[in-house]
Amino acid sequence: MRALVLSDIHGNLEALNAALAAAGEVDAVWNLGDVVGYGASPNEVIEIVRAKAQYNVRGNHDRVCCGLASAAGFNPVARAAAEWTRKELTEANREWLAAVPKGPLMPEGLPQVALAHGSPLNEDQYIITMRDAWAPLQQSGIVVTFIGHTHLQGGFMQKNEEWRELKPQYSKKNEAESWTLEAQDGMRFLINPGSIGQPRDNDWRAGFAVYDTDAKTIVFHRVPYDLTAAQGRILMAGLPEKLAARLFEGR
Ligand code: ZN
Repeated sequence: MRALVLSDIHGNLEALNAALAAAGEVDAVWNLGDVVGYGASPNEVIEIVRAKAQYNVRGNHDRVCCGLASAAGFNPVARAAAEWTRKELTEANREWLAAVPKGPLMPEGLPQVALAHGSPLNEDQYIITMRDAWAPLQQSGIVVTFIGHTHLQGGFMQKNEEWRELKPQYSKKNEAESWTLEAQDGMRFLINPGSIGQPRDNDWRAGFAVYDTDAKTIVFHRVPYDLTAAQGRILMAGLPEKLAARLFEGR
């Protein structure tokens, strides 16, 4: 089966639509959280995800935007966006968001896979370095754990004594591109599909991954989207201008 893995959509409808179109036919959609917050289309994005995703894991912005957690730990821009989102959400979407479970989740029939927002050991922990990856890889028997939260596409691989950081290699800036990772027996992974709606790895294109359980490949993708439209919605909504500017910078 082929599963489309999405994370950190952050209310960016244009980026989500571009990713779904580029991914084409898939057998499953897995959402790793932070569907909303920052972007100006929270209801539209939730409605698409509700219709398409078989598994959803909650993110830290999801918790704040639906009222489960306070925005006290957020910086002023994130807090302003979360407060705007909270008012904007329909009651049905707010309730749906509030019921999204904490990770890690194990998709049915796939004992080798887990889905989390931050670390599988702590939903709020960022996995950025090999040091962060060590404990979750060491402490779990899962072959592929998908994680989000950092908005950095790539991940970490461990096989016996070998540890490797994985970073997709791209050469273009404004076109769609993909990078394929082939899993070999004995390898275990923490894989971040990247952020759909607010990438922070200096690449503005929406990031996602497609996991093929038969071919044992993980294909990372970057796709351009209608950036001007997404930025326009942010400005028209009265959200902080910085949120529009950073989309172009990819950080
Ligand atoms: Zn996020």
